[in-house]
Amino acid sequence: MAETADISAEAAHEFLFLTDRDQGRRTIVQTHDVRKVYRMGALEVQALRGVTLTILEGEFLAIMGPSGSGKSTFFNMIGGLDKPSGGKVAIDEVDIAQLDAYELAWLRCRKIGYIFQTFNLIPVMTCLENVMLPMTFAGVTGDEALLRAIDILKQVGLGHRLTHRPSQMSGGQQQRIAIARALANRPAIILADEPTANLDMRTGQEIIDLLVSLCRGLKVTVICATHDMKMLDRCDRVVWIRDGRCDRIEERAHIDITVGALSHE
Ligand code: ADP
Ligand code: MG
Repeated sequence: MAETADISAEAAHEFLFLTDRDQGRRTIVQTHDVRKVYRMGALEVQALRGVTLTILEGEFLAIMGPSGSGKSTFFNMIGGLDKPSGGKVAIDEVDIAQLDAYELAWLRCRKIGYIFQTFNLIPVMTCLENVMLPMTFAGVTGDEALLRAIDILKQVGLGHRLTHRPSQMSGGQQQRIAIARALANRPAIILADEPTANLDMRTGQEIIDLLVSLCRGLKVTVICATHDMKMLDRCDRVVWIRDGRCDRIEERAHIDITVGALSHE
């Protein structure tokens, strides 16, 4: 009898959980049993051992896990930068394995903006030129690209540094250029791999705040692979990855508890 009561309580929770989260929100990324095996001669590394995850449009998701747990590998799978050894990744309900080279290039150029730990800016280009480059790839040129780049750079707080080169700017400013570049083609998804790992505590916090404000203001979906605990405080959900597997997924309310517990440690 007790067992029956437990099961129905669980089912009720599951029902509430689903209706709560799905209110008017679309799935933008769906992974199903994603696996990745790297082969290096006789050595096999199972970097992902079956990750199934649904990401909703407009959410701020943190993918947390220790170094070597598979975060960057998963980032590459969602971003269409590498192919899974097994399983599926769908973006906007399209299985990306079905895309040809041209369609995949279109997806990477228009739909997703990428941000990396080491900024990956082009050193010989100015701040403006770095942000205009993806627009050029997308066929936006001339005055339109220029005006758009200035506008985005103002949004990330760099309106006064348009003609500086990356080496003339601080780490936090360089990451802001990279964020502006990621926004250049108005993507639906921003994928960030350890965006705060090379930054000091305060600058890291500023970058997180900026990503949150872009997520809320532009309704862009932000997915951050990270091991920065500061991210926990600001994201909508956290996916804990361990040893290539999704260990658990926590919602906002539970994250508050985790942050509370961590701050008391
Ligand atoms: P994280 O980003 O969480 O630090 P990664 O996704 O980079 O983890 O790596 C997961 C595992 O896969 C690690 O054991 C790593 O050594 C291995 N790995 C990652 N990339 C490669 C690669 N290109 N070739 C071989 N092994 C790799
Ligand atoms: Mg990594």
